[in-house]
Amino acid sequence: MTSEPTQPLEPSFRDSVDIMFNRAVRLMDLPPGLEEKIRVCNATYTVRFGVRLRGQIHTFTGYRSVHSEHMEPVKGGIRYSMGVHQDEVEALAALMTYKCALVEVPYGGSKGGLRIDPREWEEHELELITRRFAYELAKRDLINPAQNVPAPDMGTGEREMAWIADQYRRMNTTDINASACVTGKPLNAGGIAGRVEATGRGVQYALREFFRHPEDVAKANLSGGLEGKRIIVQGLGNVGYHAAKFLSEEDGARITGIIERDGALHDENGLDVEKIHQWIRSHGTIKGYPEASLVEDGAGYLEADCDILIPAALEGVIHRDNADRVKAPLIIEAANGPITARGDEILRRKGTVIIPDMYANAGGVTVSYFEWVKNLSHIRFGRMQRRAEETQHHMIVDELERLSADKGLGWTLSEGFKSRYLKGSGELELVRSGLDDTMRTAYQAMREVWNARDDVSDLRTAAYLVAIGRVAGSYRAKGL
Ligand code: GLU
Repeated sequence: MTSEPTQPLEPSFRDSVDIMFNRAVRLMDLPPGLEEKIRVCNATYTVRFGVRLRGQIHTFTGYRSVHSEHMEPVKGGIRYSMGVHQDEVEALAALMTYKCALVEVPYGGSKGGLRIDPREWEEHELELITRRFAYELAKRDLINPAQNVPAPDMGTGEREMAWIADQYRRMNTTDINASACVTGKPLNAGGIAGRVEATGRGVQYALREFFRHPEDVAKANLSGGLEGKRIIVQGLGNVGYHAAKFLSEEDGARITGIIERDGALHDENGLDVEKIHQWIRSHGTIKGYPEASLVEDGAGYLEADCDILIPAALEGVIHRDNADRVKAPLIIEAANGPITARGDEILRRKGTVIIPDMYANAGGVTVSYFEWVKNLSHIRFGRMQRRAEETQHHMIVDELERLSADKGLGWTLSEGFKSRYLKGSGELELVRSGLDDTMRTAYQAMREVWNARDDVSDLRTAAYLVAIGRVAGSYRAKGL
């Protein structure tokens, strides 16, 4: 599916983002010039390049859009999909600006895309295409550690990022910071532990934080915690897979439905996410999976009964034609822009609580930021702190045990306690705790506005208010 309107009255993806932006701006006191400066996309570069493959020249179209340079570098993924077009890339770049501001990672917003179906090409062909695309972008500083830092998005992953990093390095042999030109690289090519799972992990942390606030949970007509909650996930790609896996394995939630492009799987008792993921990997489809019932109408299954709906695939899947029938009282937007402006309006009227994309899927860019900092500092996280912290934790545990023996208290420290305190401060632990902290802090900034202002009825508007306020603040600080 693309962001093409389902009916003439449905705005494009780009317009949808602007409509939501404008709703928030109306509640702010921004000078009109500044409001426009923030809203518009600064520039979008389109490149068409040919690559000789299978005995002939194939022409590809790619984009890199820069939405806002209030902070540099600008940041955002590169998407490989046949649905890529200028409107989509610009909408996604705008969302990156707001997302980075909301979670306080010091970047402007950007996004790139290549119109390609990656499944149609062999690995070595994809490498040639990616290197050529990277060359075209790097030549114009649209890949550069100080100016524009891409990352994975739909259809791309660690492999493509490694090719991009290598291509940039070849073009800039004396740049000691070359590996910071792109994030989401494999661990052995300058990546960071926990980046692949980061966006899904962020969705989990976002939900955990939401459920820490009973008043917020009540607004969605829910109660209690995540345990036992019935969840439907759309899309078992990198984000949906990790979110569903962590929520079911670590928080006791039940994944009652998984929607994929060829239908949906349903089991009221909870699906085995790992098994289904394996099945899709080896069969290329959810069809034939023996341990759950198949629902042919996958899109229709978005309307099925559940507590939490997680659209983790494409933009525009909940729109003016189906929003009214969506039953989930709580939706968390793991994808970018899964709900159109019209869909959003309908859901808001119904009282559905929406945890918005710019917050919900910010885990990816947050850990990208950690990777970029790691690359620039040329040292693995925890390498220096580790010994000191571990020694301290061991001393505390030893002291507690000694005290207990001396005073005859008979305390025994549980293995759980020891493993929590003695697990050290390796890179993965530091990344996860940094991400958790980021997701908690950003949620609290959003909910403060949501709960304090009578004119703000939804978390999305609250998120925009926080994000736009911060972007405006940095423009003002520059004297603009
Ligand atoms: N593509 C991801 C996003 O939409 C990650 C971007 C990044 O890490 O720069 O947020």
